[in-house]
Amino acid sequence: MLTRLLTCALVLALAGCDPSPASRALQERQFVPLTEAPPADELQAVEPAPANATADAEAPAPDAAPENPPAPPQVSDTATADTDSIAADEPEPGTITVLNREIPPGTSTRLTWSPSEVFEGISTTTPVLVVNGRQPGPTLCLTAAIHGDELNGIEMVRRVLHELSPEKLRGVVIGVPIVNLQGFRRGSRYLPDRRDLNRYFPGNPDGSSAARIAYSLFNEIIRQCDLLVDLHTGSFYRTNLPQLRADLRYRQVRELTQGFGGMVVLHSEGAPGTLRRAATDAGIPAVTLEAGEPLRLQSSKVSEGVDGIFSLLASTSMIRRVQLLGQPEPVFYESTWIRADHGGVLFGLVRLGQLVEPGDVLGTITDPITNEQNLLYATARGRVLGMAVNQVVMPGFAAFRIGIETDGPPTNSVLAVAEWGQTDINSNFAPPDDSGAGQESEESDGAAALDPEETS
Ligand SMILES: [Zn+2]
Repeated sequence: MLTRLLTCALVLALAGCDPSPASRALQERQFVPLTEAPPADELQAVEPAPANATADAEAPAPDAAPENPPAPPQVSDTATADTDSIAADEPEPGTITVLNREIPPGTSTRLTWSPSEVFEGISTTTPVLVVNGRQPGPTLCLTAAIHGDELNGIEMVRRVLHELSPEKLRGVVIGVPIVNLQGFRRGSRYLPDRRDLNRYFPGNPDGSSAARIAYSLFNEIIRQCDLLVDLHTGSFYRTNLPQLRADLRYRQVRELTQGFGGMVVLHSEGAPGTLRRAATDAGIPAVTLEAGEPLRLQSSKVSEGVDGIFSLLASTSMIRRVQLLGQPEPVFYESTWIRADHGGVLFGLVRLGQLVEPGDVLGTITDPITNEQNLLYATARGRVLGMAVNQVVMPGFAAFRIGIETDGPPTNSVLAVAEWGQTDINSNFAPPDDSGAGQESEESDGAAALDPEETS
């Protein structure tokens, strides 16, 4: 905790977690202020902060809510000078194209992505936030709410994207705060047809609704990314210690996890169809960042995730930040689930992150009719990485996930994916360097791998 406070204090003095990006932007006059309110009123209700922090006067606004009429656009001195020096028909060097929009360097832009038509035949658009740094560098993508009920990641994307200064950023950060807008509106993990979008990547343009949405996201946005962080929470009334899920057989992915500072890392290949796995298979180093539980906005969990993302930005030199000596190293885990053997009312007796020993009581399950009580015990020494919130459970319910510390990431890789050679983030990233037997983990064993509670 002390280290975190020190880090944040130093970062405050520089650029990382300035709590008032709006005022900073106004002082520095580096932005064209946003001319429209963020699209999701829910986000503003949670923390009505820097709606004016970033902007681009030329950003399209096809989905601007009528009740939030755009303010007159203002153009900053910096932007005007840059524009004047460039011929009208030639994009400024460093200009990138995202979703068919040209985004000059040193600007922040809000775009819209139209993944599909809803059943009524009306196109729905989802906001995409892009910060194109003044200096060239890698493209980091942040995706959230692929499961529409997972809210913490939405807030993480907002905090990160609105705190970044495009003048100081090296590279590009693309944030998709609410991938599954239809699920988000209904407070549901799923798409309206009950499909789990995170089982359909990289998608299919001729497939199901889910496959088409997945295809659109993957091809229009994800393929532009050099690094991907997909934000999730626990599912179905479970909560997760902030942690990374990553296919550690890839050296590039291992290095990506090390950019997050001391965050817990759990090795898993990822279930087929997950965005993380599809991106990794396509040569884009990707991790899932899990934090907290669905249907809630948890400030401390959000802050931990945001800290990790800013640490990653610093470690990839996309932002400048003083790295404290003794920056914490990630801790690698494999894990095992403790499941309920009886139905009844579950009460947890441990906390997330708590160290437990074999035989420790993790929780009680009490039959509400007979009053018979059964205890759940830890079967291994480790930390509680995930756990169910108090609820009524059935036999077989995965209640506690115990992380067992390992010496380090697995060093034997099994895959040799040709596409890895296409990725050139920086000199540290290279194709998998070795081969060997696959790493078995709890997540990869048979039916459990398809169990949503064990994947993301
Ligand atoms: Zn999820």
